[in-house]
Amino acid sequence: MLKTFAYLLALLMLSSEAQAQWHQQQFQVMGTQARVELWLVDQQQAQHLIRSVQDEMQRIEQRMSPYIASSELSQINSSAAQTPLRLSDELFALLSQSAQISALTNGAFDISYASVGYQYDYRQGQRPNSKQISAALPAINYRGIKLNAQASTVSLSHPNLKIDLGGIAKGYAVKQSLALLQQAGVEHALIAAGGDTALLGDRRGRPWMVGIKHPRAAAQTAVHLPLTSEAISTSGDYERFFIEDGVRYHHIINPKTGDSAREVVSVSVIGKDPTQVDALSTAVFVLGLTEGMALIDTLAGYEAIIIDNRQKLHLSAGLGAP
Ligand code: ADP
Ligand code: MG
Repeated sequence: MLKTFAYLLALLMLSSEAQAQWHQQQFQVMGTQARVELWLVDQQQAQHLIRSVQDEMQRIEQRMSPYIASSELSQINSSAAQTPLRLSDELFALLSQSAQISALTNGAFDISYASVGYQYDYRQGQRPNSKQISAALPAINYRGIKLNAQASTVSLSHPNLKIDLGGIAKGYAVKQSLALLQQAGVEHALIAAGGDTALLGDRRGRPWMVGIKHPRAAAQTAVHLPLTSEAISTSGDYERFFIEDGVRYHHIINPKTGDSAREVVSVSVIGKDPTQVDALSTAVFVLGLTEGMALIDTLAGYEAIIIDNRQKLHLSAGLGAP
């Protein structure tokens, strides 16, 4: 009897060891909630990989956060207007990519928006007045961020120019993390940080289902999207905002006006590159429905779902009815 029991137990343990399963973990990083889901046989390896994703995202936060005084980004903001600053290859590459996206989006995506952006405090309900905005606007210009590839340096050509990577860093962190899992041989995984999600493969024979939040009902999902091996980024005016005299002030800023963009309320961009879709969702939000959708329809491999300020849903050409 005892022998049979021991045998059964051994069998059970063996089979559970040999069987792959989903491993999941959530944690806070970069001012948002991150989530990792992956399919793997080895429990220990899965825990190890989840830990390395967490480490990688924290590493990127330490380098790119404007709230951490010692971050490389903070060093740029405090010194690169006076003298060129030598950058890590990683940050140099991300600033170069940002500049390319600024050119592509006619300046709608512009990391120097922060020259006015830091005067907003959404928790405190604080915003710059029109005089303060006018004073800050001359410093907002991505062309004023001078990158020297030979010397690997950056210099800022306006004394008040400040940089913030909030529109691209989470996508980059998700991209790095997914690459890490892929290199370890994982074939099915989801990594999300706030509104940025990247998918490795499918959900074992089925597509992943990714939800786009209802912009005015936090608990509801506006759209469920079946996706495989894609990245998707959503920018919404409901993430960080306050309302004053019926006007919504939120964290996506039109670099040309210094004010929140208000033509649309939610933009999701789908494509292969998590960094690119993150920046593009912010850019299309600023561009608005007509210009934003026109841009997406010129870009091969990218699709968009836009909810306008009358809560009407719009799909890019590749997602629309045939
Ligand atoms: P989140 O996932 O943080 O909600 P989004 O992808 O929607 O981010 O981008 C919004 C963030 O991008 C803002 O919090 C700010 O840090 C930054 N940002 C705001 N306006 C711009 C802009 N015009 N260009 C580049 N970055 C911006
Ligand atoms: Mg974005």
